[in-house]
Amino acid sequence: MNEPLELERMTWPEVDRAIADGIDGVLVPFGSVEQHGPHMPLDTDCFIAHELAMRTAAQGLRDGVRMLVAPTIGVTVSWYHMQYAGSMRLTTDTFLHVVRDVLDSLVHHGLETIVILNGHGGNVPALTVAINHYLETTGRRIPVANWLDLASDVVGELDTPTIHAEEAETSLALALGQRVELDEATRDAFDRGAAVRDAGLPWTSFGRYDASHRGPSVTVPMDMLRDVAPSGVVGDATRATRATGERIVEAFVPRLVQVVRELASTTRAGASAAATGRGTAS
Ligand SMILES: [Zn+2]
Repeated sequence: MNEPLELERMTWPEVDRAIADGIDGVLVPFGSVEQHGPHMPLDTDCFIAHELAMRTAAQGLRDGVRMLVAPTIGVTVSWYHMQYAGSMRLTTDTFLHVVRDVLDSLVHHGLETIVILNGHGGNVPALTVAINHYLETTGRRIPVANWLDLASDVVGELDTPTIHAEEAETSLALALGQRVELDEATRDAFDRGAAVRDAGLPWTSFGRYDASHRGPSVTVPMDMLRDVAPSGVVGDATRATRATGERIVEAFVPRLVQVVRELASTTRAGASAAATGRGTAS
């Protein structure tokens, strides 16, 4: 077995054998179908999440950590992109049900260690609710790996804001082989807070308008993005380079392999402790 295991490309006996042989973890890519400026296609978050999952699973194989890659969940929380042609969304209510049903399906087959690999910032608040609700109601812990967070040191070295279809995301798309029309890349709403204020929308100087903002802040909801960023880019896509994207990939992939390795070993230890009555869980 030299190829990463992509769940929906396998027959059921193959999946059955893989589970019997021992799977350390399942990666569930979450993307979005939403505008990514004039320079990248709507499937960019799906492409990134799937590609990162496949590369992580391939690295895992080399490192002795066996992973399955689940189907990419494509249409997600993108209501604030609906002013741009082609964007699609689930309502947040529906999305929470989808997350639960997807996780339940994998758990049903005895897959214990599941990690959501999220490629879309707009999913983060709902995914955080979803995984906490999942623990609350099932006792199962499902972590979320956002590439922006797991490669935060590399992204933090950039001196442009990290919001949408900007330097970091465009660089990552380039490195992973997504279609990128660099001639069309643009800079827009570079200071999202100022763009909100200039658009005459409710604004506060303490608002956290940039994912990498640090310091005293209040959390503000997303904006209907076209009100503040006519091109759909929030940040500076013109600064994107394949080399920057490769540094993000090189930071992210081994760390996610480590996450799965650690979770798998501690999950097994917890299960055997519970089986021998040494567990503290009730
Ligand atoms: Zn994106």
